[in-house]
Amino acid sequence: MSTNTKFIYRRVLLKISGEVLQGVNKFGIDINSLKRIVKEIKLVLKLGIQVGLVIGSGNLFRGSTLSQLGVNRIAADHIGILSTIINSLAMRDIMNSHSIPTYVMSSIPVNGICEIYHYERAIDLLSNNIVVIFAAGTGNPLFTTDSAACLRGIETKSDIILKGTKVDGVYSKDPKKHSQAIFYKNLTYKDVIQKELKVMDLSAFSLARDHNLPIRVFNINKPRSLYRIIKGYDEGTLIK
Ligand code: UDP
Repeated sequence: MSTNTKFIYRRVLLKISGEVLQGVNKFGIDINSLKRIVKEIKLVLKLGIQVGLVIGSGNLFRGSTLSQLGVNRIAADHIGILSTIINSLAMRDIMNSHSIPTYVMSSIPVNGICEIYHYERAIDLLSNNIVVIFAAGTGNPLFTTDSAACLRGIETKSDIILKGTKVDGVYSKDPKKHSQAIFYKNLTYKDVIQKELKVMDLSAFSLARDHNLPIRVFNINKPRSLYRIIKGYDEGTLIK
């Protein structure tokens, strides 16, 4: 296990999948899970790290799932987009209750509830150590919040995308279904494409690759994993 005494990141874009927010429930927001994640984020904020946040909405609605049930795909994605705003508002509230100044910026206007996204304003807030939650994905259907994370990560000049999931990192196959799945500690963008590994959807991944934005996939449910990454420990899988 390697460690650096200096922090290798100054500003990170943390992407959390919606599923992480639902805890053991099948649907919705588990406030205790939210509180636990907020405590993990607080640990790295105390180190002076600037944090941008993108939250998915797999715990509420995903466009692809709704469209399989017969909802028009575009409308289904709009429902997914709105769900990310719901998650972001819940997250902001818990962050604020833990005395963490946090703004929600949405890609679509939601007057009276949160600000509209503006990259210069976002950079300004982040530079002042205020957490910014980027809600409503890219604002367009047919994309995912992974694309939003890469987009906002590039726009705000973040050093890395930290993709917090329920699994430890990237495996050759789904470790829940295949006991012999290989775990990767380090991968190149090329490896991911060649081995057809599921890191994120291709448009999101290409965006990160084309802009040389490293991605680290890790288990955010593992206590202090985020803190350990910032401290320079090997945690999860690094793709660069
Ligand atoms: N979505 C979208 N455009 C975006 C981001 C999200 O249409 O730019 C919709 C899409 O329907 C997606 C849902 O919002 O399924 C939730 O996002 P995602 O699937 O990325 O959530 P996660 O899997 O990270 O919880």
